Amino acid sequence: MNKSALKRLALELRREVDLTPYDRFDPLVLAELYGVEVIRLSEIECSPAALRHFQLARPERFSGALVPQSDGSTVIIENDSHEPERRVSTASHEVAHVALEHPFAATLTDTKGCRVSIAEHEAEAAELSGELLLPTDAAKRLAFNKVSDADVARRFGISIQFARWRMNATGARKIAARAAVKRRAT
Ligand SMILES: [Zn+2]
Repeated sequence: MNKSALKRLALELRREVDLTPYDRFDPLVLAELYGVEVIRLSEIECSPAALRHFQLARPERFSGALVPQSDGSTVIIENDSHEPERRVSTASHEVAHVALEHPFAATLTDTKGCRVSIAEHEAEAAELSGELLLPTDAAKRLAFNKVSDADVARRFGISIQFARWRMNATGARKIAARAAVKRRAT
């Protein structure tokens, strides 16, 4: 799926949860709409040593995963030891895989504990979750109004790095800068 198709899909999904492109996105609401339960890593019954590993010793190792259930449903497991902004981005990424109907091979871990992923699916999920969290239309308006990356992050409940990435990757800052030059020239 190309970028403009993903952009359209993100706006459609936002509409399904009653959001305009300018509202803050909550991935848990979309997950619920899809009947996908989001489970916190700390709620899972596993050995304390394993939990400590993910939460404290190697918190970077695991952000989230989609896990198919025997009844055909899907759950998202997310690492709740991460910052809220990162958790929002993780859950959005995983729910994007669901919305894109990516097969489970794309998100399961192999026996060595490495993520088996299809690069194309990962790129799509990254782009779709980016558009869900900060749509291009919103980025352009914010850039035009000279809203800082930090303020964009606060408004949309995302990290400053994520906001910066979106404000640049969407071309929003560049377009606003060009428009400002034009305004000064006339
Ligand atoms: Zn992924």
